[in-house]
Amino acid sequence: MKIKVVKFGGSSLADAEHFRRVAEIVKSDPERRYVVASAPGKRFAKDTKVTDLLYRCYELTRAHEDISACFDEIAGRYNSIIRDLGLNYDIGGELDYIKNAILHHSGRDFAASRGEYLNSLILAKFLGFAFIDAESVVCFRDNGAFDEEKTNDLLREELAAHPYAVIPGFYGVMPNGTIKTFSRGGSDITGSLVARAAEATLYENWTDVSGCLMADPRIVKDPRPIRTVTYRELRELSYMGATVLHEDAIFPVRYAGIPINIRNTNAPEEPGTMIVSATNEYDADTVITGIAGKKGLSVITIEKDMMNAEIGFGRRVLEVLEEYEISFEHLPSGVDTMSVVISTAAIEPWRERLLSAINRMVRPDSIVIEDGLALLAVVGRGMVKSKGTAARVCDAISNAGINIRMIDQGSSELNIIVGVEEADMEAAINAIYKEFVKG
Ligand code: ASP
Repeated sequence: MKIKVVKFGGSSLADAEHFRRVAEIVKSDPERRYVVASAPGKRFAKDTKVTDLLYRCYELTRAHEDISACFDEIAGRYNSIIRDLGLNYDIGGELDYIKNAILHHSGRDFAASRGEYLNSLILAKFLGFAFIDAESVVCFRDNGAFDEEKTNDLLREELAAHPYAVIPGFYGVMPNGTIKTFSRGGSDITGSLVARAAEATLYENWTDVSGCLMADPRIVKDPRPIRTVTYRELRELSYMGATVLHEDAIFPVRYAGIPINIRNTNAPEEPGTMIVSATNEYDADTVITGIAGKKGLSVITIEKDMMNAEIGFGRRVLEVLEEYEISFEHLPSGVDTMSVVISTAAIEPWRERLLSAINRMVRPDSIVIEDGLALLAVVGRGMVKSKGTAARVCDAISNAGINIRMIDQGSSELNIIVGVEEADMEAAINAIYKEFVKG
């Protein structure tokens, strides 16, 4: 039988009502055999995620303060899920053990991981599925790096022994037996690892939005959902700040050729977004797939006559950045100018030293740093097939009365990067959206 791996985020498992929805979704398709669960998330805007409460318990213990009230809140979340579901299940012993372990300084990651651990125990019980503890199948190395091969072997073996199972997301184990978590939002990664090990045909990632949108809804009103996006396009968009999925969740399934389907637990009838490795189809009426923007950038502009003939010029500039451990975002260049776009926060501590180091290294005619730059990425696999996209992007921006500070199109024709003043970013995104989607 085909296998689908389904991951549910924290908001999809925040209370009993959501547990019921999740069970309905899982049970409606027998191919949905492996479920990866997050910890209970927010039930309403001002609510606190259980993971954050667990981090707080850890901090309180470190400060030798009482954790009772905070821990009771966590216990209350789980107990009310169990009660409201009408489950005959007592997790009192588990809660006591965890509280005690936190009080005995069991570690920050251990504390945080218990959110998914407990939620998965309850979900497994509710679904009647086996529980596979991530601690026995997701492994890290001594240096903290994720151990891909070991994890894949162990997971594969364990999954083969259970036709239906729930696996907690977010954490794994170090060789010495201590618990370690991925970075925040890491249950997405676990889902991807399980999908790969299970050789799934699909990795469904259920959340509280109906997939990826063409633009940030805080910037563009009611942006259209993206039906299909390639992994490469998504990388471009998420690099620029569009987040639906943990960045590292893409790699395991991408290499295994497993598509990801982002779905909405609160609107399961909607198809969501398919993330695929390649596709022949593209929306005929939208050349672009999405637009994203990122603020907080600076540009270092270096000028020197005959720069183009000076061998090693670029390397020497980049060597200085390397010395200060600064990564650059973009490198648009002219014949006698080179611009380096960098995050303002990254250069802040070294500003003056960086300038004099570059001065020493390449003896430019001039060098300046300007702050307040925003970059927009206009991304679309459809660009290769249509002419004049760059011109349309530029026209849309300038017709909105916005000055373009730089423009850079990668030769893969997957994206066009435009630099504008930070204050103009929202208007520029709206102008491009209007041109390509609503124009
Ligand atoms: N519960 C963890 C967090 O809040 C991991 C996750 O939900 O993916 O970051």
